[in-house]
Amino acid sequence: MILVMKPQVSEDSLNSLVGEIEKAGLNTHISKGEEVTIVGLVGDKTKIDLTAIEAHPAVDKVIPVTESYKLANKKFHPEPSGFAVKDTFIGPDTMTIMSGPCAVESEEQLLCIARAVKAQGATILRGGAYKPRTSPYSFQGLEEDGLRYMQTASKETGLATICEVTSAHAVASAYKYVDMLQIGARNMQNFELLKEVGKTDMPVLLKRGLSATIDEWLNAAEYIMVGGNTKVALCERGIRTYETATRNTLDLSAVCVLKERTHLPVIVDPSHATGVRSYVEPLAKAAIACGADGLMIEVHNDPAHALSDGPQSLDFDQFASVMTNLKPYITLANRKLS
Ligand code: PEP
Ligand code: MN
Repeated sequence: MILVMKPQVSEDSLNSLVGEIEKAGLNTHISKGEEVTIVGLVGDKTKIDLTAIEAHPAVDKVIPVTESYKLANKKFHPEPSGFAVKDTFIGPDTMTIMSGPCAVESEEQLLCIARAVKAQGATILRGGAYKPRTSPYSFQGLEEDGLRYMQTASKETGLATICEVTSAHAVASAYKYVDMLQIGARNMQNFELLKEVGKTDMPVLLKRGLSATIDEWLNAAEYIMVGGNTKVALCERGIRTYETATRNTLDLSAVCVLKERTHLPVIVDPSHATGVRSYVEPLAKAAIACGADGLMIEVHNDPAHALSDGPQSLDFDQFASVMTNLKPYITLANRKLS
């Protein structure tokens, strides 16, 4: 449930209320907006005297939160949230571009891609070091060496970095080398992994599961947040449907639904959603129009020879052209490249 405070509630009054609630064993989450302060309660409500809370001089009204996710819920935090990733930002008013290869293949490859995506306005370098491939015979990633190359590329270009983690061991390694952790679609409901990244203080990109509902996705975000890590962004990357013309079906309506239900930033990945490079630009434009806070776009120096996801990867000229063509859409959405 959430408690909406009376306007101009004093700090003392708010603190005494929060103290009473916490003494009863519940956790409180205070959200101070421009107009109103909200106190979200998580825990066993039977432990508090609801009538006394309703009558408290600081409380304007009590609103039940029926959804099972609380910390991710917009009712708990009505203003859109955002957070820094190294020197860049994900959240309101900005458009954050995360680009790079599907998989880190070598130090030279990563460095040349990092320079190229930075030149076009990307601020986060993506690159997989642990690749959850459909076939066990496909390239599985360079693991810790790949993470080291991500760190080198970041030092050389100043870009922030993001890497997918697929196990607790990968979380511990990635934590040493990169700035943001990615939970891939195949692990969206790997609850032990979610708890593991929830224990860190590192921003997390939570991709939508292949067949996950929005409700399941928000509950997965809740698993991370309840561990104490509230720096979570959601990434729509297409869902399984009967359609085979594209690799997945990009669910852009999910962006609109999320904007209504959660304060967490939303990133759209048109590369994995379609599997086809020529669809990346139109869907990126549509994602910006729907309210996305950022885009994840795969870029490769030589897509024809990429060790994974070549058909959806843009080469440097294509990426430059896409970024130029996206700029008016970013301005129209009242955002700036972060
Ligand atoms: C990726 O970003 O490289 C990836 C594997 O994406 P997804 O988990 O969305 O398939
Ligand atoms: Mn990929």
